[in-house]
Amino acid sequence: MNLPVRSRSAGSPLDRVRVVLSHTSHPGNIGAAARAMKTMGLSRLLLIDPKRFPDDEAVARAAGAADVLAQAEICASLDAALADCVFACAVSARHRNLGPPPLAARAAAAEILARAGAGEVALVFGNETAGLSNIEVQRCQRTVFIPAAPDYSSLNLASAVQVLCYELRLAAFAGLPPVASKAVPFASPPASHQEVALFFAHLERVMIGSGFLDPQRPRRLLPKLRRLFGRAELERDEINILRGLLDAVERKFAEPAPHAEGVPNSGTI
Ligand code: SAH
Repeated sequence: MNLPVRSRSAGSPLDRVRVVLSHTSHPGNIGAAARAMKTMGLSRLLLIDPKRFPDDEAVARAAGAADVLAQAEICASLDAALADCVFACAVSARHRNLGPPPLAARAAAAEILARAGAGEVALVFGNETAGLSNIEVQRCQRTVFIPAAPDYSSLNLASAVQVLCYELRLAAFAGLPPVASKAVPFASPPASHQEVALFFAHLERVMIGSGFLDPQRPRRLLPKLRRLFGRAELERDEINILRGLLDAVERKFAEPAPHAEGVPNSGTI
């Protein structure tokens, strides 16, 4: 079974989410952000007046996400980057007194996706040293923070992009398989109640027959084994394997014990 591969052409809700990096100093961070985006299924990257771009270091850090980098749009201002957006979030670790309402990353992802139903939406990230200015933050409808250690809460820019894109992916595709895969799901159906009951009867018989379980002093052996196999949620194939094993043990017991004397020596071992 081929599971769905999410891409722009498949009409993913993530197609309407753009990542805006404001005044980035280090081209390596731009490349790493592109890679972070692509791994989570985002592709639209806008750069506001980057210090160095294009740049070989950006290409190197983008690894397989060179396409995201190649399509990156350069804008002169935040207003230009957000011109056609219906909703924008300023991503910042810092609380701003006059800023828009703050949201933690997970809650923000849900809201961003809901807003993406109505049009283009943006996540805006700041410069590595200065972060976002108050003016930039005030251009947005929400401030988004990544919950972090209070005494050291500033992530690397591309790491912050990764966390937000990851949360967006979780929110967008909750319940879907984590990666596209051509693996065939394992086919054996779960064992029925009766198959399980017959297995336990068989197991008990072999345990008693082998002397492992003394029916006069059963202790809590059977309930414990029931709990163990219960956790495994046995499938029909697995029950068949276990019962085959028990059959083999029983056959071994049924074989006549070899006599100490008079065993014909065939000359082979
Ligand atoms: N010294 C800057 C931090 C720059 S880190 C400051 O005080 O703002 C570069 C960018 O990464 C930030 O502008 C922000 O967009 C993002 N970032 C880093 N850590 C973050 C966090 N804990 N929560 C939200 N965004 C964060």
